[in-house]
Amino acid sequence: MDDLSEVLRYLKIQQELYGNTLYFTPVKSPKESQEFNVNDKHPLLEYDEEIHNCQKCDLAKSRTHFVFGIGNPQSDIVFVGEAPGKDEDLTGIPFVGRAGKLLDKILSAIHLTRDNVYILNVLKCRPPNNRDPLPAEVEQCEPHLIRQLEIIHPKLIVCLGRIAGKTLLRLDLPLSKMRENVYNYNGIDTIVTYHPAALLRNPNFKRPAWEDFQKIRDQFLIGS
Ligand code: URA
Repeated sequence: MDDLSEVLRYLKIQQELYGNTLYFTPVKSPKESQEFNVNDKHPLLEYDEEIHNCQKCDLAKSRTHFVFGIGNPQSDIVFVGEAPGKDEDLTGIPFVGRAGKLLDKILSAIHLTRDNVYILNVLKCRPPNNRDPLPAEVEQCEPHLIRQLEIIHPKLIVCLGRIAGKTLLRLDLPLSKMRENVYNYNGIDTIVTYHPAALLRNPNFKRPAWEDFQKIRDQFLIGS
């Protein structure tokens, strides 16, 4: 795809998601390279270009889009989901389906938007029929996640759901236990909360999830 069609595709998706208002985010200087200059490509964009044709596992054969991630690469906070679903596979953007709309609402309740966070998934390609990721798929895809987190180097990682918590923290616990602590992932504070799709399935999770997001707002965002 040439640059112009890529821009038009992006604008069309933005219009579908947000209507006719265009939001621009001022870009801060990147954390990874001190010598980065505005005319250079951001290292995260370069990494996207490097891996978006990935063929490491069979999910490459059935995907429509490789779903790299979205948001502000300078953000201090990264949300890690599980894997693209149907809508994400079709658009190439994480969390645009029902669960994504709920995530947007929760973010807005703590005064965040997609412009000041970064959102990505453990798997970059959709598992058929949204089944759970296979351990072999996670193993093949995890180096992409590790590198993305190295480049962004946020102050806080929020794992959305068990798969993200298990992958990053090597924890095999029920989610209600995982969410009790703040962990250290390569020097970065990391917490685990309910996946928005779990909140849609079970409204009883909404209260504890809201407590987690209030904690994010009050302990991690104030003064950052
Ligand atoms: N669920 C996820 O974990 N990620 C998405 O991008 C969409 C739904």
